[in-house]
Amino acid sequence: MTDPASDAPVGFVGLGQMGARMAARLVDAGLDVIAFDVDPVALAKLAARGAKAAASLRDVADKAAIILCSLPRPDIVEQAILGVDGLASGSTVELIVDLSTTGTAKLQEIARALAVHNIDLVDAPVSGGVGGAEAGTLTLMVAGKAAARARVDTIVRHLGSNIFVIGDTPGLGQKMKLVNNMLCAANAVTAFEAMVMGVKAGLDADRMLEVINVSSGRSFITTDKLPQCVLPRSFPNRFATQLLLKDMRLGVEEAQVDDAPLWMMTAALDFISKAMDEGDPQADYATLIHYFEQRAGVEVAGAALESFAS
Ligand code: NAD
Repeated sequence: MTDPASDAPVGFVGLGQMGARMAARLVDAGLDVIAFDVDPVALAKLAARGAKAAASLRDVADKAAIILCSLPRPDIVEQAILGVDGLASGSTVELIVDLSTTGTAKLQEIARALAVHNIDLVDAPVSGGVGGAEAGTLTLMVAGKAAARARVDTIVRHLGSNIFVIGDTPGLGQKMKLVNNMLCAANAVTAFEAMVMGVKAGLDADRMLEVINVSSGRSFITTDKLPQCVLPRSFPNRFATQLLLKDMRLGVEEAQVDDAPLWMMTAALDFISKAMDEGDPQADYATLIHYFEQRAGVEVAGAALESFAS
């Protein structure tokens, strides 16, 4: 594996829930991080931690050869990379790592456009939430040319403890990520429905999680999301509902292109879309439980705060 010169600047674009924490890990590891976000507050926060604040996307790409992005939507990723004065127009950039959930078709379109500029794209969507981003324990699903992957290997190891190579073609990481997130979304809505059903029947929410988490109904939603975000009624903003819905829409579109049959995922997508209309698209997807609670006239409340995950 090539170890990039430790003093070579590394670009980081998109300092939101995930990006801010990932970029902070690179700063803390001693990398010379040149960061940019359209939100000046997010940028100032990372600069205070030791990153250099770039003036624009172009400025990042005029200073760093390797640039990581963690941006919210496919159209924003495309615009930030290929738009006027975007990353591709920089004089120094050689390789871009997309940590966002962008979808296969858009990612591959961007990779083809970048190839014309002799810029490599490594597809590396992440899973593990803000907790994983902060602790450097994310799962990364990496796809791209072997030489390009090797160039960023030491960098991505600061971000995750589960680094999986999915293939040599950018876009395969996105496929893997969408399969995972569609499953996560479907698990979330069924677990929320089940918890409301139990509470309505008179069961104690804490006791229910204790049982489920040593039984066959267990998932990330019951080990982490419900005990940390729902039972304490805190609903911290970690993963916006609108971003989960974006992932579901991308996944359903791709399944249609691949001619894979979907029943449950489309039901989950329809539900999330309807429930989000009644709620706040910016709020964490844990708030989807309100849809069931309001109709049942109960609250899934309890003391649990800690993760049940081993
Ligand atoms: P976020 O909305 O919190 O952050 C996105 C950041 O990008 C914001 O700070 C925003 O100001 C910035 N931004 C938007 N347009 C920009 C531009 N043109 N140039 C520079 N910065 C720009 O989103 P997030 O939750 O951090 O998610 C980022 C990506 O990671 C998404 O693709 C999401 O699906 C994925 N993801 C999120 C989670 C999670 O738990 N939040 C987990 C896994 C993957």
